Amino acid sequence: MSERKRKSTSDGAAGEGPSAKQQKVSSMKKERAGGWLVDLVNQQRSEIKGSMFNQKRLRFINDTKKIKQGSKGVLYWMSREQRVQDNWALIHAQQLAVQEEVPLHVCVCLVVSKSELSTLRHYSFMLKGLQEVAQECKTLNIQFHLLHGTAGEILPGFVSDHSLGAVVTDFSPLKAPLQWLEDVKKNLPKEIPFLQVDAHNIVPCWVASPKLEYSARTIRGKITNLLPEFLTDFPLVERHPYTATRIAKPIDWNKTLGSLQVDRSVGETEWAKPGTKAGMAMLESFIDVRLKLFGTQRNDPNAAALSQLSPWIRFGHLSAQRVALEVKRNGKGKDNSVGSFIEELVVRRELTDNFCYYNKKYDSVEGAYMWAQKTLKDHANDKRPYLYTCEQLEKAQTHDKLWNAAQYQMVVDGKMHGFLRMYWAKKILEWTSSPEEALSIALYLNDRYELDGQDPNGFVGCMWSICGIHDQGWGERPIFGKIRYMNYKGCTRKFDVAKFEKNYCPKKL
Ligand SMILES: Cc1cc2nc3c(=O)[nH]c(=O)nc-3n(C[C@H](O)[C@H](O)[C@H](O)COP(=O)(O)OP(=O)(O)OC[C@H]3O[C@@H](n4cnc5c(N)ncnc54)[C@H](O)[C@@H]3O)c2cc1C
Repeated sequence: MSERKRKSTSDGAAGEGPSAKQQKVSSMKKERAGGWLVDLVNQQRSEIKGSMFNQKRLRFINDTKKIKQGSKGVLYWMSREQRVQDNWALIHAQQLAVQEEVPLHVCVCLVVSKSELSTLRHYSFMLKGLQEVAQECKTLNIQFHLLHGTAGEILPGFVSDHSLGAVVTDFSPLKAPLQWLEDVKKNLPKEIPFLQVDAHNIVPCWVASPKLEYSARTIRGKITNLLPEFLTDFPLVERHPYTATRIAKPIDWNKTLGSLQVDRSVGETEWAKPGTKAGMAMLESFIDVRLKLFGTQRNDPNAAALSQLSPWIRFGHLSAQRVALEVKRNGKGKDNSVGSFIEELVVRRELTDNFCYYNKKYDSVEGAYMWAQKTLKDHANDKRPYLYTCEQLEKAQTHDKLWNAAQYQMVVDGKMHGFLRMYWAKKILEWTSSPEEALSIALYLNDRYELDGQDPNGFVGCMWSICGIHDQGWGERPIFGKIRYMNYKGCTRKFDVAKFEKNYCPKKL
């Protein structure tokens, strides 16, 4: 299909045939030039008047409330949300800088931890996305700095050196970013306010709920009741009116990527181009082509029905709030699909931040409910029908062609279909010697190969499949105890398993 002209797939209401007027409107709608979504969004942003920033998105990390007088700028320390527009943290930083009539700076602290999870796949996606951010900042008179090192060590010195008067950052519930936050708080001069904005969740994590939620059922009402307040349009991040005297160092992006100590055997993916522009194009194609199938075919790994947006949301190239706004606005007539999609994108996704934020053992069997820990323990010594090592699993060398195909899809494409992720993780529980080992292997493989890995969604996905979190107890059976079970036969009832196995038949890994 041509990229410039994509056929609109908007359905009319079922039942009656269309009137002449409807037919005219629908033929006008049929062909939309590629790029229509970006044009529409630009127009929406420019129409927003006023600040629109809800103060509940914000919290103070230290006790200083007032920006340091006589400072030479405000800093946004960009961490999880690597985009310019539709970013409440950057919007707020710009508003502060405008109020104080000072320049605006953005920085990213680049650090590669020594780990099998630090791969070219992830760092290339991140750096290429940041390159787009840097270009956009330049056109908006915002200084973009790529700093090398951990935030706790380098950011406070950078703030003093540049005489900056306030630091704004974004929010993540994961252990490493929470530690960085603490380290910066400790080392930042006390007279500099340190603010955090939840720019990831539509309803800020601490507003949606002050406690660990039991399941989607218990958080759904809380989030949906707050959507009228938080699912609002974004104002434009505008050309900044105050110019910095300290200019950011130029960045050689290719050299930076080439110099990183990452595992290059896990390479870039073909299908997912990094950056906000590519993310918006993927969103546009979802609305035009796949959304109508989401309601009925999202559990069929052979169907192109999913949004495919998780990598861009994971790296902050796209705002989930923007995705929700545009799917709701442009999904008229596809209510079933829109409803199911918003459930995944908003309720299920925001539940995962809740889990990781309020449960410090989010990556451990000890983080599961007591009933689940007990049942897994009761069955820890059950005989396993097959026992595979991590290496055999990594190389897709099991007896199960469907499992191997799913593993192969993840290794090669960097993204396994959502339905198969559940089957895949549950089989790891069945074929390894203990739930602890199963969880650790599942998280390792997920976070090493999935482009959207190392995200609360991944921790919760693996914990749901293996440890029953956010789920209920089911009929007791060997190995799984009361944890929900899935099997090959069940998959054959849901979709054409043979077709999927043929498409992803593993070559040597
Ligand atoms: C074992 C296992 C591991 C997983 N690992 C990850 C991971 O590492 N990263 C990741 O982003 N998701 C993970 N998921 C959740 C889900 O499978 C993916 O988000 C989804 O498949 C991504 O594809 P998509 O963007 O096309 O999703 P769509 O179905 O189009 O959904 C749109 C968005 O909603 C969110 N979403 C969808 N399903 C879920 C879910 N079950 N829980 C939370 N949010 C959801 C995602 O942000 C997704 O991009 C995992 C699930 C399981 C069972």
